Amino acid sequence: MKFALVTGASRGIGRAVSLKLASDGFSVLINYKSNDSEAFETLRLIKESGGEAFLLKFDVSDKTQVTESLGKWLLEHEGDYIDVVVNNAGIRKDNLMFFMSDDDWSSVIDTNLNSFFYVTRHLIKDMVMNKHGRIINVVSLSGLKGLPGQANYSASKAGVIGATKALAQELGKKNITVNAVAPGFIKTEMTDGLNEKELKSMIPLNRFGESSEVAELVGFLASDKASYITGQVISINGGLYS
Ligand code: NAP
Repeated sequence: MKFALVTGASRGIGRAVSLKLASDGFSVLINYKSNDSEAFETLRLIKESGGEAFLLKFDVSDKTQVTESLGKWLLEHEGDYIDVVVNNAGIRKDNLMFFMSDDDWSSVIDTNLNSFFYVTRHLIKDMVMNKHGRIINVVSLSGLKGLPGQANYSASKAGVIGATKALAQELGKKNITVNAVAPGFIKTEMTDGLNEKELKSMIPLNRFGESSEVAELVGFLASDKASYITGQVISINGGLYS
């Protein structure tokens, strides 16, 4: 069985992606930071539908925790390897830059950008040895066009977009693809406080997206059907961009 690691999989887009990958036959490693009950719910939903999954709790922004948790998993699962990683965990701490605190800046950069490096670097060796792998990064419309009040978040996502393009060129010859998906407004706790009625008028499809719609795209990129797509940033935003 092939393993897929999904970071930030206790809720929102990460949960939907986990369900999709499990239904496509992957054994899913459900990463999350602190919300045990929601993570167990993701696990329960996967098992209820006949899939296989395990919880893997660690803080993606903490280099030591990432190294220890992934190192332990890899040691305990000799012969297995993680074929798909979905770097999805993310936070936002919006503020005009004039008012932005050091913590607002660094926690968003650590969680959204540095985590990509901390997590992915541990998985590349096995992908190279197995001559197959899928690295999928969940970025944002905000990282493509920049949004006011999100200098930290836009910078973090733009950073992952650059790293996606660079790593795709490093790993292409090894049959490992590296892509990013860039959602617009998706209905999750992250967008809970936003006024959908007001904002949807800007969106050609006239609504916020569902996590399951993003999961379909991620599932496609993880599949063999996407074998010739790499280094791309694929928008999923109801036509909002540009
Ligand atoms: P969400 O509902 O707020 O869920 C966030 C998830 O990330 C949770 O599972 C949370 O775990 C996990 N997480 C947060 N910090 C973490 C850390 N340090 N270590 C490990 N896990 C951590 O968010 P979402 O809307 O699904 O967003 C998922 C991704 O999509 C993010 O990268 C976000 O930037 C991106 N995105 C979302 C939208 C949108 O409209 N929703 C649009 C564009 C991009 P706990 O439950 O343990 O806290």
